[in-house]
Amino acid sequence: MNRFEYLEARTLPEAITLLGQGDGTRIVAGATDFLVRWRQGVWKPRAVLSIKRIPGLDQVSYSPATGLSLGPLVSIRALEIHPLIQQHYPALSQAAATFAGVQIRNLATVGGNICNASPAGDSLPALIAYGAECRLIGPEGERLVPLERFLLGPGRTALRPAELLMELRLPPSPPHTGALYIKHSPRSAMDISTVGVASVVTFDGGDGVCREVRIALGAVAPTVLRAGSAETLLRGQRLEAELIQQAARAATEDASPIDDVRGTARHRRAIVEALTGRTLRSAIQMAQGANIPFRTQRALAVEAML
Ligand SMILES: Cc1cc2nc3c(=O)[nH]c(=O)nc-3n(C[C@H](O)[C@H](O)[C@H](O)COP(=O)(O)OP(=O)(O)OC[C@H]3O[C@@H](n4cnc5c(N)ncnc54)[C@H](O)[C@@H]3O)c2cc1C
Repeated sequence: MNRFEYLEARTLPEAITLLGQGDGTRIVAGATDFLVRWRQGVWKPRAVLSIKRIPGLDQVSYSPATGLSLGPLVSIRALEIHPLIQQHYPALSQAAATFAGVQIRNLATVGGNICNASPAGDSLPALIAYGAECRLIGPEGERLVPLERFLLGPGRTALRPAELLMELRLPPSPPHTGALYIKHSPRSAMDISTVGVASVVTFDGGDGVCREVRIALGAVAPTVLRAGSAETLLRGQRLEAELIQQAARAATEDASPIDDVRGTARHRRAIVEALTGRTLRSAIQMAQGANIPFRTQRALAVEAML
């Protein structure tokens, strides 16, 4: 096994300084991705920098005016069970509930899931559908980057040298909004997605017209991406069954899946169509006031072959 120097930062400036002291220092948070890649010999860092002791990076805060702020060390388990996240950003809690087993959910962080930049990362479709932005800090100061632009490809992000993710911001979720994430995978637990779809729908009010819709597709392209043509069909319209079906078909054209051990590209396109339709129909019901308990949402969010 490759040896490395182990470093700990107590403040953000200290982390930036340590990251800047030569190439080959890798940040770790929960280390659930790190340990797998290190043991496989894929990652051979000269030094590993833990950010777990930096105070405040595990905070969740919400206000109706400014929305949700998540520190990068917020665990996937906290996303799953936090009452305000379940209430205002349910697709994020649903996605967290589909993630690995509870032991991994306790260790794994939302920042690690983002910075690992897997196209199958389960938190990513919901975060993108809710319009998340990444607040980054580095030697040149802070900058805000929309998550859609932060993810550049498998394992590649917009992070610059010695930069780190210090916060995620999600805008307020307007009234009359509903959302569902569905993960399709071979097994119902401890498996990564073959396809993951998150849909967030907002109505204008009682008139039944869709004011905003955001659909994000996971594991069907080098990065998680928006189903832009499907969204365009729905925005400003009454969401009748036929139109939802058309949008679900359009989403298959927005995707660009590959064949791999988890499924063929053709199979993945068929799943995109099915999951887009299902996530939209449930999101619409929730946006129109249906009270679906979280345990039911969690059951809806997992679709497995075994
Ligand atoms: C058994 C098992 C099951 C899993 N199941 C799932 C699953 O169902 N769904 C899923 O999406 N993932 C799954 N994963 C993958 C993994 O758990 C997640 O990607 C997790 O969210 C990573 O978080 P972490 O804190 O452990 O990241 P780490 O391993 O600590 O780091 C991951 C990457 O992010 C970087 N990083 C971390 N934090 C920051 C930061 N603040 N700023 C800059 N860079 C940073 C690190 O340098 C590293 O490159 C699984 C992993 C295992 C081992």
